[in-house]
Amino acid sequence: MPNRILDAFFPPLCIACGVRAESAGMLCPDCFSRLKFVSAPVCRICGRPLPAEGFAGVCGECSARPPSFSFARAALRYGGVAKDLILALKYGDKTDVVPWMARITANAGKEALAGADALLPVPLHPLRLISRKYNQEALLTEGIAALSGVPSDPFVLKRLRSTAKQGHFSRRERFANVKGAFGVSEKKDVKGGIFVLIDDVMTSGATAEGCAAALRNAGAKEVRVLTLARVAD
Ligand SMILES: [Zn+2]
Ligand SMILES: [Zn+2]
Repeated sequence: MPNRILDAFFPPLCIACGVRAESAGMLCPDCFSRLKFVSAPVCRICGRPLPAEGFAGVCGECSARPPSFSFARAALRYGGVAKDLILALKYGDKTDVVPWMARITANAGKEALAGADALLPVPLHPLRLISRKYNQEALLTEGIAALSGVPSDPFVLKRLRSTAKQGHFSRRERFANVKGAFGVSEKKDVKGGIFVLIDDVMTSGATAEGCAAALRNAGAKEVRVLTLARVAD
């Protein structure tokens, strides 16, 4: 059926604000114009936007304590429309935002996806998985897998213990909170592999560090991180 006929009955709506949009599963021009894309210069390790060119290319935190992942990239700065979409998926079951998120994340992650063996969503604790019904990171990961051709495997990483909600924690507390919280399934062989961790938002990088450390300890050759958004302080 031509889209025009379908559109007459189900007009395409902006996935963020709900006004009429050009095509289904997209943002309206107004919401799109309010997105803040991560743009150069960024720290070449953690992907944090840097104030100006001329640094060695690595931020202070990464040079003081290099993370277990080789580099992290994100499409958007967290906040505004990006935050609304992530919260709508996380707490509102609004899964129609996933294809758009996957496309924009895959576009920003070409370097991270190149030559990778598998995409790994950050695992939720089983108890939280029940209360939330599904793992939105797994949906985002599936979408990126379909676009990039890199397979996803949601069963490699597991939570070893529940972590406290990190909302009000300092950076140091966040790293302590996730230390030893993640492990690699004993059924999976990650030795020599290149993996891409997928998450919706990177805040302090503590969760990514917890997962990457577990993978490297289990023999992974390289871990990269790709997120839809990142907090840019
Ligand atoms: Zn809109
Ligand atoms: Zn950095």
